[in-house]
Amino acid sequence: MNEKDFAFQIERLKSVYGDKAYSGERYFIFLKEFADLPREVFEKTVTNLIATEIRPPMLNKFREAMQEDLNLAAQAKKAELLKNAYDCRKCGNVGVAYAKKKGEQFAYAFQCSCAYGRVNYPAYPEIPTGQNDWFF
Ligand SMILES: [Zn+2]
Repeated sequence: MNEKDFAFQIERLKSVYGDKAYSGERYFIFLKEFADLPREVFEKTVTNLIATEIRPPMLNKFREAMQEDLNLAAQAKKAELLKNAYDCRKCGNVGVAYAKKKGEQFAYAFQCSCAYGRVNYPAYPEIPTGQNDWFF
């Protein structure tokens, strides 16, 4: 979402709850928190909050209200990634690949470079590339 879209939604909130609740420092805190969201999710959240909250909703209410949409968006993204997934010989479609470093006894777990890796193990480090002291 760009800042213009964000500012438009903040104006909607201000029109209902008054300028003070979403001005100054709070504007930038909210911007930082929500800048990476899809515009549709933020817009829908603002609509829901305007429809349900008497007092100006703050961060915690936003997070609660958008959780379901964020889950749905994450599921849709996963489904899209897996739509074109091929059979991965490196991880057997699990998503995690193990590698040992030369001279070390234990294997490290990495996010496989295939779609299953990105979907199932997004927080794992990526497989080191261009280093020939790793054995897979
Ligand atoms: Zn894989």
